[in-house]
Amino acid sequence: MSKRLFFVIWMVGMAMAISAGNNRPSFGEKPKLVVGIVVDQMRWDYLSIYYNRFTRDGFRRMIDEGYSFDNCLINYLPTVTAIGHTSAYTGTTPAFHGICGNTFFVDGKRTYCCSDSTVQTVGTDNKNVGKMSPRNLLATTIGDQLRLHTGFRSKVIGVSYKDRAAIFPAGRAANAAYWMDLKNGQFVTSSYYMKDLPQWVRDVNKQMAKNEQLKKLGVNVGLSPLTGVLITDMAIAAIQGEKMGQGEETDMLCVSYSHTDVIGHKWSTRGEHTDEAYLEIDKELARLFDALDAQVGKGNYIAFLTADHGAAHNSQFMEDHRLNAGKWSSERLRKDLDAYVASKLGNTKSLILGILDYRFFLDKTEIRQQGLDYQRVKEIIIDYLQQSPNLSFVVDCEKIATSAIPPVLRDRMLLGYSYHRGGEIFVVPDPGYYEYGSWSSPVGTTHGEWNPYDAHIPLLFYGWHVPHGSYAQEVHITDIAPTVCSLLHIQQPNACIGNPLTFD
Ligand SMILES: [Zn+2]
Repeated sequence: MSKRLFFVIWMVGMAMAISAGNNRPSFGEKPKLVVGIVVDQMRWDYLSIYYNRFTRDGFRRMIDEGYSFDNCLINYLPTVTAIGHTSAYTGTTPAFHGICGNTFFVDGKRTYCCSDSTVQTVGTDNKNVGKMSPRNLLATTIGDQLRLHTGFRSKVIGVSYKDRAAIFPAGRAANAAYWMDLKNGQFVTSSYYMKDLPQWVRDVNKQMAKNEQLKKLGVNVGLSPLTGVLITDMAIAAIQGEKMGQGEETDMLCVSYSHTDVIGHKWSTRGEHTDEAYLEIDKELARLFDALDAQVGKGNYIAFLTADHGAAHNSQFMEDHRLNAGKWSSERLRKDLDAYVASKLGNTKSLILGILDYRFFLDKTEIRQQGLDYQRVKEIIIDYLQQSPNLSFVVDCEKIATSAIPPVLRDRMLLGYSYHRGGEIFVVPDPGYYEYGSWSSPVGTTHGEWNPYDAHIPLLFYGWHVPHGSYAQEVHITDIAPTVCSLLHIQQPNACIGNPLTFD
């Protein structure tokens, strides 16, 4: 190669490097709006399975024009909705943010993640649907940090079908979170945020009351792609009604499409229902981006899209194709386990509070009252479970760090474990095996484990200062919040453990 040619190539390379480097926003620059999108139960490989069937304006706008992290993994256990949503927006894990499951036990009391008896429903006469708040959340979110940074002038709003998917992303200092009252087919909130619904939400609800399809579906609306349409309508109404992205400060809208999880649980990862749901979400994304372009302006907002977890393929489907898989029922196991413990210790009442998301929660009060040794009880249960088929590992949560388990499990268990809320024993089923409770559909599926089918999720960025590109190596769900905070030049959430990602 001639010296001159080498010099030209070197100059072009330098120019490209400089232009890529320059793409990062400088101090003082800020977008009008941050839009976080979570698609519940969306496996990463759906991006490639549906790529050729997607329109150019939905997912593909993010893939073809934006930046894709192709190996984003969930770095804690278990992989369920409330934790996924919370971890994406706090940049941390259950060990720190305290949301240890959709339901967990706080000091021995079974607790739904966002239930709050001190608040009331706002928006309908359905009393229980709005007794929700983010009070169990211990850490700040991106939105909380944005509010802190701007003297609470930034508007932060969460919208979803599920309460927990609207509440936790938005955070404790959010202006509002809205979710669906399925009984009445209306969007509601709680008195944690406000006394009355704003007019624009009332207007959305008026439209919903006239929706014949919604009336017909009733509480089963979650099984229909119509939910995606309603969530998009609500998100667009929020942008217009609250003039989001129109003020001096950066606002944040957290949108979660949650019905895909309901559909996945019912019909699993393959087939017409799943196809229909994702192709509809694609159209909804296109509609949302078009509205953002019109209201906020292309290039003035940054959007990210991820999932709270993935899902296993249906075990029968796997077995039909000679792949190792199966169902594991904790409830069926429980009777025999209780009998085994009683035969060893003579206790008359069960010492297990519950089995949730592959964790056994022990009844410490009952153990104490019966004068039993807590460590001994645990040992007996672990001994029994280790003889149980289809479990690869059984781990005492207090001894995770010293247990003979692969580092990938050790780290994710430690990051998922909270002494006060997290259960006493973790079990890890064999690959392809999943919990099959009374709620499960035989042709459906579930999630909650460490395996790539549950832990490998999409992570796409699009818009303000996001170049086109992709990255193949491992990043984590906890990197999302520090990435957004780094671009905005605001402090990371207060228990953030992730690293800011760059679009190189
Ligand atoms: Zn689910």
